[in-house]
Amino acid sequence: TLAKATTGDARVLAIANQKGGVGKTTTAVNLGTALAACEYRTLIVDMDPQGNASTGFGLTRGDRKRNVYGPLMDGDPVADVIVPTDVPGLELVPSAVDLAGAEVELVDAEARETRLRSALAPILERYDYILVDCPPALGLLTINAFVAGHAALVPLQAEFYALEGLSHLMRTIERVRKGFNPDLEIEGVVLTMYDRRNNLCAMVAQDVREYLSNIVYDTVIPRNVRVSEAPSHGKPVIVYDMKSSGAKAYIKLAGELLRREKGGAPAMAS
Ligand code: ADP
Ligand code: MG
Repeated sequence: TLAKATTGDARVLAIANQKGGVGKTTTAVNLGTALAACEYRTLIVDMDPQGNASTGFGLTRGDRKRNVYGPLMDGDPVADVIVPTDVPGLELVPSAVDLAGAEVELVDAEARETRLRSALAPILERYDYILVDCPPALGLLTINAFVAGHAALVPLQAEFYALEGLSHLMRTIERVRKGFNPDLEIEGVVLTMYDRRNNLCAMVAQDVREYLSNIVYDTVIPRNVRVSEAPSHGKPVIVYDMKSSGAKAYIKLAGELLRREKGGAPAMAS
């Protein structure tokens, strides 16, 4: 029932949270893999100078010679920097350390907020989903992802300070709506690294659901050692160990995301 039904331009999702280590990259890599497995043509754009998504697919330094920097800073065609992954139907725009400079160079650049949107425009029709893996900051790289995006998808680690910083994130999204992208939605919030045996996790999850209500996915991503092992093998956990709890959760998340989009609910304003 979740088989591909869309045609036309890609839906662009900015996977964002200014906190590091909350599961943005893991979510981009595995949601992308799950969507591709459902036959949705998917592209992941690695917008983090650390390049963890690129590493997560086993890309070497040489594989990243051409990366998102060129399209972003020099107006190079993004089509020229797309590389395949081992996952059929899933492609990647790699990042490289140069991108750390871009964050600074963008400050004085023309059209500094809209460059990713312009870069992606010519290839939107090639994909069903484009997932932008954002760096752990609310600087111009993340702003570019919000401006280019139809919606933001926010991974939230189930820990004591989970909600801290969320108002800053929501204010940034509101600013982008006002300035550049009035239709930017919140695709959803996904709780990550959830530990069922930890009472604090359960309390945090309840808190988050009360505060954010129906934008939080029912699917929760458990803390799972196979998820943390997978990147060092250059594979998404869905490929590395399809039967692991982490892989199953990400497949379930893709299903929930697709169902929500088909139902037209509940992506909404904050
Ligand atoms: P971010 O992109 O937000 O910085 P990552 O996705 O890179 O976060 O995750 C941070 C670290 O936690 C990585 O080492 C990753 O492998 C690990 N990790 C992410 N999700 C899980 C999970 N569900 N279970 C165990 N480890 C995880
Ligand atoms: Mg990351």
